Amino acid sequence: MKKLFVSVLAVVIIALPLVACNDELGEGLTEYTICATLNEQERTVTADMSVDYVNDTESELSELAFHLYGNAYREHAKHFPISQSEISVAYPNGLSYGYMTVSDIADSKGNALEFTVDENDVLSVAIPKLLPTERITINMKFVLGLAEIRHRLGYYSGKYNLGNWYPVLCAFKDGEWYKHPYYSYGDPFDSAVANYNVTFSYPEGLTAVSSAGVGSDGMLNVCLRSARDFAICVGDFNQTSVNVGGVDVAWFSEGSDDYTGVAVDALKTYNELFGEYPYESLFVVKTAFVNGGMEYPGLVYVSDALNDEMIKEVVAHEIAHQWWYGVVGNDQVNEAWLDEGLTEYTTTVFYEKNPSYGVKKEERIADSLTTYMLYCELYYGNGKKMTAMNKCVAEYNSSLEYSYMTYVKGQLLFDSVRTLIGDEAFFDGLRTYYQGCKFKVATMADIIGALEQHTSYRLMSYVGSWVDGTALLYSVN
Ligand SMILES: [Zn+2]
Repeated sequence: MKKLFVSVLAVVIIALPLVACNDELGEGLTEYTICATLNEQERTVTADMSVDYVNDTESELSELAFHLYGNAYREHAKHFPISQSEISVAYPNGLSYGYMTVSDIADSKGNALEFTVDENDVLSVAIPKLLPTERITINMKFVLGLAEIRHRLGYYSGKYNLGNWYPVLCAFKDGEWYKHPYYSYGDPFDSAVANYNVTFSYPEGLTAVSSAGVGSDGMLNVCLRSARDFAICVGDFNQTSVNVGGVDVAWFSEGSDDYTGVAVDALKTYNELFGEYPYESLFVVKTAFVNGGMEYPGLVYVSDALNDEMIKEVVAHEIAHQWWYGVVGNDQVNEAWLDEGLTEYTTTVFYEKNPSYGVKKEERIADSLTTYMLYCELYYGNGKKMTAMNKCVAEYNSSLEYSYMTYVKGQLLFDSVRTLIGDEAFFDGLRTYYQGCKFKVATMADIIGALEQHTSYRLMSYVGSWVDGTALLYSVN
């Protein structure tokens, strides 16, 4: 590994607004155009947004539905934005609330469109009948008030985290918009890929780092094609960058620490194992965050409360999500094990392929098995059937159960499949999965289908028994 630091000239080049978009990528997709302003005094974001929506469903539509995730932080929200056990860490200065309002919703000719916001904070906009493949452009204004919280969306100690910060189109499932609420556990998101044109003004003197570039002199002006989300983080950050095969990889931190090299190692390892990362930049920002980190396309958060060892692990984990969640999407509400389990296992593979980090694959798997067994004994007794992974995140009893079933058991499942079918079939299968499900939302059937192309083992009942909790992984006395 060779860690490179960019010259001043290179920093200037990266800091210029990136307006040249790769239009081959994302051709024909729904497009969000957002013009937003961050107000430092009020801790608000005010924005005009237009959505050029293409009906890629097989249904005739009479409404568009959007999640207003900003309202997850409002007082009396249906679900608390975090689990109860995380409150003191997420809100060091006491509970704080945010909000999100929408107004002036109209079609492209300026005709007002009727809309409602339901108890799940889902915005439904009535539109003229829209047949499959037809497009409609709607415009709206929104205002986001930021809670003081160390979370995906919020303000804390000079840092503004803007994840899931604009009205996001709901997933379309089984002939209708899937209007689920925000949930306290997991990452309750399930968006389709889209294109983004974002203009964002922010206080000069701060740095705005986004899913598709870095701002300059208080203005971010960028576009991103074929991505599942678009996030921004603003703070007084120092930047270290390096270009790896045409991808700008950068680390942003308030301090002088630098983990660009870990990001580069992760990018190279996953490119080689699974297939090429499709975007032009990959940024890691160390910011105020309650857990380890959070993934968005082209931009990941790493918590500013982690030690050196944990930062490395979180960087490797969140960058793995660029492949599993980002490019290959999942229903993170109902099938969270698929992206978290595979991402956790990919993190283990990162250590296996990069022995200089001094973390052994066998030890990570043994740790997972031991802690999983202890967890089951403590919380389930002999109730092995309770270890189902195919649940909505809302159905887990605690964030601990969610973590054990999706990350830990998920990792054990993937290691077990690898042992069963062998290294060659396993990694060939993951490459097939990545290529075949690129920019789509994949399911358990998709990953099994991809793996089965490279092995004679039929995996559905084997994987299915892990997922539905009927497999006996170990004996409890
Ligand atoms: Zn994760």
